[in-house]
Amino acid sequence: MKRTLIAAYLALLITFVPAFCLVWRSGEAAEDGPGPSPAAAPSVLSVRETALPSPAVTPSDAASPTPSPTPSVSPAAEPVPERLLVKCGPEVYDVDMQEYLIGVVAAEMPAYFEPEALKAQAVAARTYAMYCAATGRHSDAQVCTDYACCQAWISREDMESNWGESFETNYAAISQAVEETKGEYLCYEGEPVFAAFHSSSCGATEDCGAIWNPLPYLVSVPSPETADTVPGFVSQVELSSLDFRDTVLSAYPWADFTGEESSWVGEISLEDSGRVAWAVLGGVEIPGTEIRSLFSLRSTAFTLEYTGSGFLFTVTGYGHGVGMSQHGANLMAAQGSDYTQILAHYYPGTTLVK
Ligand SMILES: [Zn+2]
Repeated sequence: MKRTLIAAYLALLITFVPAFCLVWRSGEAAEDGPGPSPAAAPSVLSVRETALPSPAVTPSDAASPTPSPTPSVSPAAEPVPERLLVKCGPEVYDVDMQEYLIGVVAAEMPAYFEPEALKAQAVAARTYAMYCAATGRHSDAQVCTDYACCQAWISREDMESNWGESFETNYAAISQAVEETKGEYLCYEGEPVFAAFHSSSCGATEDCGAIWNPLPYLVSVPSPETADTVPGFVSQVELSSLDFRDTVLSAYPWADFTGEESSWVGEISLEDSGRVAWAVLGGVEIPGTEIRSLFSLRSTAFTLEYTGSGFLFTVTGYGHGVGMSQHGANLMAAQGSDYTQILAHYYPGTTLVK
């Protein structure tokens, strides 16, 4: 067995090393989870100067295939558990790991996505489940089915009702992705990683340190999706001046809106990824993540302008932006990357354990 694994490892090295120039290795370069407040960010733009977040990948770049890094693969340090204690509401169930993962992938990624994107999602979901179990966030279970805490999960019955006539096809696609990656997960320094993921990014993913604690394998990397490839990639939220003011005051009652409406929005500071680190609203410096939550924005990659009668947010992408972009993964897969290359791109420096 060990000899077979070593042979497979050597075969992968021989296959990939000459083909790609980027190296997936430690030090080079995940939907919502825990962490501290955002770090301060550099460039400052006034509201009049704000433009769409500058993408690290332009639409023309996105048309060419994304260079694929060389995946780092190693034999399993420890096997993936066969079963998992899953908390669903007040109940805890002892669930087969593969069955659990089918429910996670079904809940977290559209079943019509490319097979290699589904496989990348299956590995990320397995890794994230192992990370949650290792961190012991639940005393009576290893993971829960709340997407805001661990990962979303839906039952086979929910899949049947959601998918209708497409159930058999969708279930087969997802279970194949889970089965073909059985036992595989991402490691960093021997531990399952915080495999965060999100729906779509504004040209680049977010550095984990901008939202939570920094992690060496969750740094900003280019992501190829654009408005041409993602439905609802750019969204807008428009409010009257009074609604805008009252929303800010609901969370920051000390904010000052006594001046001209056109002066209510001050400096806006961007992260390197193009997302808003913080903005001054009513004289109060508010983190981008707080503004996203207050105004129910799809991401922190937004511009904010005064329209003369109110305020307009224009938002790019969907989700916190950390880790694997699902739409980016789907596009990479469509352009020929396999799941190991997708994972190596979005989680640089990690090792795929199989
Ligand atoms: Zn949980």
